[in-house]
Amino acid sequence: MKEKVSPFLKRLSENPAIRQQYYISGFESADVIYNDPLMEEKHEVVKGLVHKYPNRALIKVSYLCAAHCRFCTRIRQIGNPEGTLSDIDLENILLYLQQNPQIDDVILSGGDPFYTPDITYKLLEKLQFISTVKTIRIGTRMPFQSPDSFHTKNISSLLNLINDIGKRIPLYILVHINHPDELNKETESVIKLLKEQKVTVLSQTVFLRNINDNFETLYLLFKKLYHLGVIPYYLYHCDHVKGLERFTGDINKEKEIAIRLRAELSGIACPLFVEDLEDGYGKMPVY
Ligand SMILES: *Cc1c(COP(=O)(O)O)cnc(C)c1O
Ligand code: SF4
Repeated sequence: MKEKVSPFLKRLSENPAIRQQYYISGFESADVIYNDPLMEEKHEVVKGLVHKYPNRALIKVSYLCAAHCRFCTRIRQIGNPEGTLSDIDLENILLYLQQNPQIDDVILSGGDPFYTPDITYKLLEKLQFISTVKTIRIGTRMPFQSPDSFHTKNISSLLNLINDIGKRIPLYILVHINHPDELNKETESVIKLLKEQKVTVLSQTVFLRNINDNFETLYLLFKKLYHLGVIPYYLYHCDHVKGLERFTGDINKEKEIAIRLRAELSGIACPLFVEDLEDGYGKMPVY
């Protein structure tokens, strides 16, 4: 995966937490073959749609993002234009959802659904009328990678559609954030903008060794998110992707941090610490 740092993040590149998440370091080998530990490819039943759990489908709108996180679980795909869904791909996905009415919860992911707002718009426009789909979630990291984009015409139209759908179907926006230094005036204003829509905003965080795997950093992150009206949803143990070992922390150390977070944060401010098990079980709480 080639290095891609958005202009916004370049301005923050002196910050160690930003640098370590986005810039290629000497530890990254150029010729490693990244695997698919969550076996998504096995469950990709239609191009772009991963159907791994009975009632939930995950749609990868594209493999494109505003910036490339060096620890991405989907590092094998990110940046590849072949993941971008065409009109025909969208039709096939919608047909699959109609033929599988047990799917009531659809998750838009990628890549970043806000990076290709026109495709996400087309998908949502039709998805909202599939009566068996009862909830929609959208995962994004763009508020922290390119907050300025949220004022462009295309994303504004997408937000208007989201606001409209949210009046009829529960809509959840899941923002991916790992460090309190990703919060600043610009990114917080995007969170406010999202919260003005008819949606619930949740967050997801990955434990990253030597970046956020200490109590004080995560305590501050979740407290700040809670104060912004964001509900911390998941705290992940970093997936075991070959070539990304330098980001994976010690699970026993992480457990101790998670226990202390649980004791010291308000209940709503404390995410569930989970590990995505290699096959079948999904995101299981770490005990
Ligand atoms: C994470 C994930 C989901 C959603 O899981 P929840 O625990 O309901 O948030 C659905 N499908 C896939 C493939 C996933 O990776
Ligand atoms: S924004 Fe998400 S999908 Fe894109 S590179 Fe980062 S972690 Fe991966």
